[in-house]
Amino acid sequence: MKEYIQNIKIQKLGHFSNDLISTDILRLDLLHPVVSGNKWFKLQYYLQEVLDTGKTTVASFGGAYSNHIVAMAFAAKEMGLQSIGVIRGEAASTLSPTLLQAKEYGMELRFVDRERYRNKEKMMQEWNNPELFWIKEGGYGPIGAKGAADILTILDTSRYTHIICAVGTGTMMAGLIKTAGSRQTVVGISVLKNHVALENEIRWLLGPAEKQRSFSLLHNYHFGGYAKHPPGLIAFMRDTWLTEKVPTDIVYTSKLLFSVKDLIEKNYFPPGSKLLLVHSGGLQGNKSLEPDRLPF
Ligand SMILES: *Cc1c(COP(=O)(O)O)cnc(C)c1O
Repeated sequence: MKEYIQNIKIQKLGHFSNDLISTDILRLDLLHPVVSGNKWFKLQYYLQEVLDTGKTTVASFGGAYSNHIVAMAFAAKEMGLQSIGVIRGEAASTLSPTLLQAKEYGMELRFVDRERYRNKEKMMQEWNNPELFWIKEGGYGPIGAKGAADILTILDTSRYTHIICAVGTGTMMAGLIKTAGSRQTVVGISVLKNHVALENEIRWLLGPAEKQRSFSLLHNYHFGGYAKHPPGLIAFMRDTWLTEKVPTDIVYTSKLLFSVKDLIEKNYFPPGSKLLLVHSGGLQGNKSLEPDRLPF
């Protein structure tokens, strides 16, 4: 994967900057057209551990449009491992583009109904075998956070005052908190509605010294809930593409960019702030939309 890392760039967001605030974006989405930047970072040390323990197969969970599932299929293939994706819901007569791609990367797909999907511990026991290494849904866990901690080290990010990212499980954000400097603030935009346990879930991923670091979580930019994408959000995504040439996804990065624009307008950031947004990828998820909704 090392060769893909060279694709990552920092880009200025002209329409998100003014006399007082400058805003750049770290384009992890450029890593690979299908594999979400942040998912690959989170997976890297899990897969290393699979190799180190001599197991042959990784398994994890996700929905039909999961960035995590397709990234795991790809990364496993690159490292010579087998992969199994446990997919929520019955197999549709036609697979989603995400699952087709995962299958093409060699992943075995196992569909389970929603009821069964809820009890992951039980599935892990039933399917347990010594060759299998289970990764939590979304790559949540300290090993995932360790991988995400590398995100801020690829390019020089020390000049920024704020690092801002979209948050699902909080694993990526925990990684950013680990590497951010003491004068940098990490701000997370939660894409889930009422995810009140998030702060503790993030703290649990931090080491003893890191637990003291302050970070901010904002819970009011979910647009109705996970993966909800009202027309106003789609219009914003079109605008952002036209003005900045930055493609965004409906689940994570559109809500991140929207929130930052709104926060700048509301003077949330002190004058002189230098913001760095993390574009975490996820663009393949837009394939769940009808074609032609987006100009990119
Ligand atoms: C999974 C994902 C996130 C959220 O990452 P967490 O570590 O689960 O918080 C953000 N952006 C994109 C594009 C993702 O695919």
